Amino acid sequence: MIELDGSQGEGGGQILRTALALSMCTGVPLRIVDIRARRPKPGLMRQHLTCVLAAQEVCGATVIGAELGSRTLEFRPGQVHAGDYRFAVGTAGSCTLVLQTVLPALMLADAPSRLQLSGGTHNPMAPPFHFLERSFAPLLRRAGVGLDLTLRRHGFFPAGGGELEAIITPAIEGLDPFELLERGAAVEAYAEALAPALPRGVAERELETVAQLTGWAESQLRLGQARQNEGPANALMLTLVHAQVAEVFIAFGERGVSSEEVARTAVNEMRAYEASAGAVGPHLADQLALPLALAVAGSGRPAAYTCTELTEHSRTNFAVIERFLDLRFDTRLEVSRAGNAWRVDVLPGGR
Ligand code: AMP
Repeated sequence: MIELDGSQGEGGGQILRTALALSMCTGVPLRIVDIRARRPKPGLMRQHLTCVLAAQEVCGATVIGAELGSRTLEFRPGQVHAGDYRFAVGTAGSCTLVLQTVLPALMLADAPSRLQLSGGTHNPMAPPFHFLERSFAPLLRRAGVGLDLTLRRHGFFPAGGGELEAIITPAIEGLDPFELLERGAAVEAYAEALAPALPRGVAERELETVAQLTGWAESQLRLGQARQNEGPANALMLTLVHAQVAEVFIAFGERGVSSEEVARTAVNEMRAYEASAGAVGPHLADQLALPLALAVAGSGRPAAYTCTELTEHSRTNFAVIERFLDLRFDTRLEVSRAGNAWRVDVLPGGR
């Protein structure tokens, strides 16, 4: 059994999700204490509990401590079953994080799976649907895994009610480790403002501000299409597509924050990415670690990527992965005139 301290490093929900995913993939039981100890409301919240229950259902695990507020969890995985699953967070909590939990095991399964997920699809502190579709899924495809995503309904805080479908097609020959060291040539850049059930001026002012700050043309500015009853809510997404990788930067509107501020927040995040030579931003750096690690552990071949920054979140994720798999993460800062970047090597045989 692997014992983990949920207060280590960044001390958030990622420790739980990565540990559940790897317990399912390796068949090794897990005990985790002090879950989300560094968050204002520690323990399992609805969204995390849904992750635990989803993991349990996919692999028939025996679980102790799967209750709201629980700070300790014991998880004994069984056999992973590909199949047709429905998981509902039940609040506006992120359903993309439920996908993040069960995806690794299902992409190693012996048949495709279909997941229907409901809850929040565009939440602060979680991967937005469009980030998964444009940034993450194409990289999984490079490792040999199909992740086909369909957004049925947007789900924002506080109303929730979002729905997405994910079809996961495992890599038949096993996962392929790869190198992602450069972005490649710039292909496309565009902004989308989503503002369901809000005055049209909110989205228009955001897009105008993006145009002023970036010099982007009218054709790069898009008003998002909302369906009925998806609001009131507001999110602004900036997408940069390069030959090797795409990034999506998101900022959320809320009461008391002007449209101009929302635009500035998103543009500043994009500028931080542009100022570095790293291929991926901080969130992809975080989320790429687990699939690449599984590819390295399965094949015995190394993988590598460069990123714009290495957050405490990423380092914590690397440490949890190293507990389960026989590999190590090597990180070093690369200084160049094109901008500094971190290089992450995932090397087989760490023990
Ligand atoms: P935690 O805060 O530990 O619950 O983990 C949050 C997860 O959401 C991590 O996998 C982050 O990489 C991811 N995440 C947070 N914000 C974004 C964002 N703006 N774009 C993409 N992924 C994100």
